[in-house]
Amino acid sequence: MEPVPSRQCKPPSRTVHTVRCADYADALPAAFARLLSESAILPAAAVSGRHVLVKPNLLTDREPDKAVTTHPALLRLVLRHLKSSGAIVSVGDSPASAANLQAVLDRTGVGAVCREAGVPFVSFEQAGADSYETDGFRFAIARPVAEADLIVSLPKVKSHSLTKLTAAVKNLYGAVPGYSKTTLHRLHPRPDDFGRLLQAMWRVLPPTVSIADAVVGMEGQGPANGRPVNLGFLAASADPFALDIALCRILRLRPDTIPYLKGTLHAHAPECSGDSIDVKSFDIPVGSHLLGLVPSCVAKLAAKVLWVRPRIDGARCFGCGKCAKACPAGALSPGNGAGAEERPAPALDRHACIGCACCHEVCPKDAIRMTPSPVLRLFHVF
Ligand code: SF4
Ligand code: SF4
Repeated sequence: MEPVPSRQCKPPSRTVHTVRCADYADALPAAFARLLSESAILPAAAVSGRHVLVKPNLLTDREPDKAVTTHPALLRLVLRHLKSSGAIVSVGDSPASAANLQAVLDRTGVGAVCREAGVPFVSFEQAGADSYETDGFRFAIARPVAEADLIVSLPKVKSHSLTKLTAAVKNLYGAVPGYSKTTLHRLHPRPDDFGRLLQAMWRVLPPTVSIADAVVGMEGQGPANGRPVNLGFLAASADPFALDIALCRILRLRPDTIPYLKGTLHAHAPECSGDSIDVKSFDIPVGSHLLGLVPSCVAKLAAKVLWVRPRIDGARCFGCGKCAKACPAGALSPGNGAGAEERPAPALDRHACIGCACCHEVCPKDAIRMTPSPVLRLFHVF
């Protein structure tokens, strides 16, 4: 397979525009209108007659107030703007492989918003995909993403057990359909390898505009089982790396410790405009990102003491088996552990586990905690 040329031949603008927004009801319409007019990020002339794919974060089937998925009120405003500007619009995503798509559309409110706007929802699994090879990585991209003229990405700003932060760059990983995502996790288990994969993927995608939903974000055990936290802003940029670096500054995280931002800090240094946002604290999990701080050779040699693995809370687990289905390494056997109800919790094969956190992402009962080894915890303290 021939390596594909980058579609990001012209570097996107690194401007990141932020606007305060207190809630999804009264404040959101005015904040969104301000964001569009002040940033000029989606002018009607640039989208009229063009195929625009809107990509929310639809990780799994949770209600909007759980802050797992992009809020439908923001999606509604984006669709209205694009349609009134003459764009040919569709919405699409590829939820976590163990999630049921119809349940995701119903519970997140995204299905209702698409119907109301008269915009089709495209399932990336069903639409087909093409393979790409670049920068030493091979991956599939869903056809509706690759064929769009423009992607409008609507990430939810959340903590993440593997990558520390999930926002604009990580939302684009949803362009990889269904089970291919878990396969890539298995092939590239180390956070820094996975980060380079995300960078490679972005280079083959069409131009992207990201509008981050940080009105209510998630902290703690993200991306699926953390706590909703009022962050109070929207942020937009044509450069997803610049946007995430700017978010790190706002959330008081070091961008050089986010695996997928390593090596991008100079080329994607954000130029910030708009409201100044000050978030006093943002709680992140002590998780696999710590492994990214350890040199590869040391991590491989010390794999017995440097690990992050799931711990299953048998009192919460009801034995649905979603985690075992999502595990790319086959490390969870359904029904062998002790569970709260009649169906027992999965048992973990500790030697097979690669610490990817896919099981943690799909658990509907918040029964899985990604837990670093004692040595890694010590490393974190120092
Ligand atoms: S058990 Fe969980 S963390 Fe371990 S490989 Fe499977 S999905 Fe990943
Ligand atoms: S740990 Fe969670 S996902 Fe796994 S079987 Fe139990 S409830 Fe289901």
